[in-house]
Amino acid sequence: MPPDPLGYLSERLAKLEADGLVMDWPTLEAPQAPRTVLDGRPVINMAANNYLGLANHPAVVEAAAAALARYGAGVASARNACGNLPLHDELEARLAAFKGVEAVLVTQTGYVANVGVFPALLGEEDAIVSDALNHASLIDSARMSRAQVHVYAHGDVTDAKARLAEAKASGARRIALVTDGIFSMDGDVAPLPGLVDAAEAAGAFAYVDDAHAVGVIGKGGRGTVDHFGLEGRVAIQVGTLSKALGIMGGYVAGSRDLVRWLEQRHRAQFFSASTLTPADTAAALKALDIVEAEPERIARLWARAAYFREGLKSLGYDTGVSETPLIPVIIGDAAKTKALRATLMEAGVFAVAVTYPIVAEDASRLRTIVSSEHGESDLDEVLDAFARCGKSVGLL
Ligand SMILES: *Cc1c(COP(=O)(O)O)cnc(C)c1O
Repeated sequence: MPPDPLGYLSERLAKLEADGLVMDWPTLEAPQAPRTVLDGRPVINMAANNYLGLANHPAVVEAAAAALARYGAGVASARNACGNLPLHDELEARLAAFKGVEAVLVTQTGYVANVGVFPALLGEEDAIVSDALNHASLIDSARMSRAQVHVYAHGDVTDAKARLAEAKASGARRIALVTDGIFSMDGDVAPLPGLVDAAEAAGAFAYVDDAHAVGVIGKGGRGTVDHFGLEGRVAIQVGTLSKALGIMGGYVAGSRDLVRWLEQRHRAQFFSASTLTPADTAAALKALDIVEAEPERIARLWARAAYFREGLKSLGYDTGVSETPLIPVIIGDAAKTKALRATLMEAGVFAVAVTYPIVAEDASRLRTIVSSEHGESDLDEVLDAFARCGKSVGLL
C-alpha cells in the first residue's frame, strides 16, 4: 500500500487532543428548548441561539408542516433557475419591511450571505476596514474578494479612523467598513455611531453583520442600526434566521440596486441549488410574525439576561464585556474550561466550551446564551450548578 497522503492529519489530531482543543459535537436528542436532552442527558440548555424560544414554537412548527405539505420537502433548484417560491418573495418583503430597507436577498445561511457579498462588490483595487473580532464569514468574504484588508482593534473607533485613512492613502477605489453588530463570542455591541461617522467622513460604506442582534436588540428586535437610530446610514445589513428566529437561513438587507446586483453576482447563492426549503421559509415567516406580535418576549429576554449575568458575577465569574443575552464565562485555560463544561453537564447544565482557534489561546470560555423562555427558576438552577462545579474544578 502507498503511504496515506492524508496521514499527517492523525498527527495533527493527536496534537489537538493533547492540547485539549478538540471540539466535541454533542447530540441533541429532543427539540431545541430551554430544557432538552443532549447526549442522553436531560439538561438546561444555555448553548442555543434560541433567544426567543422560537425554534420549537408550535405555531412555527405548524407553518413549516403546512408548507411541507403544499410544496414538498425541497425545490431541487437554485432560485434563479426554478427554485423561487412565493414564500421566498414573501419572506424577503417581510424582512425588508421589518428592517426598514428597500430590499432583501434571502440566502441559505448567514454565513453564505456574508461570503457572497464582498466578492460581488469589491476587487483588488478596493479596501475593507474590519474589526479584529469580526465573524469568520466576513473574514472569508474579504479574502475571497481580494480587496486589501485593514484590521482595526476590536471596537476601537479611533483605530478604525486610522485604518480608514490608511486605506485611503493606499489609493483604494472603494472602501467598506464592516463590523458585527453584537459580537458572537463576547456579547458586546459595536460602537456603531462612531464607526458610521468615521466611514462617512472617509467616503466608505458601512456594513453591519447583525446575526446575534436581530430579534434581540433595537425596537421590536430590528437590530443595532435601529438601536442606534442609524437608519439610512448603513448600506448593508446581514442577518440570520438561525439565531433569534430559531430556524435557518440568512439575508442581506439594503437598497433595491444592492439586492438586484447580488441576485446577479452573489456566487454562493446562485451557484447553489440548496435553496431555503419550503418548510424553513414558512417557519421563518411565522417566527417573524411572533417577534412582531409578542414584543414582551424581547423584554423578558433582557430581564432574564441581566438576572443571569449579575448572578454569574456575584459568584465571582468573569463575564467580560457582555452587555447582551450572549454571556461568556471567561476562564482562560482550555483544560479548565473543558473541565467546567464536563462537570456542569453532569449537573444537568449545558454550555459550549469555546477554545482556540475560535478565540485566542488564553481566552477560553464557556459561552452561554439566555432565552426569553428560561424561567428564573431554571436560571437559579444553572447558577447553583455554576457555583458547585466552579468549586469542584478549582475555579472559585
Ligand atoms: C452565526 C453568525 C453568522 C452565520 O450565520 P448562520 O446563519 O448561522 O450561518 C454570521 N455572522 C455572525 C456575526 C454570526 O454570529
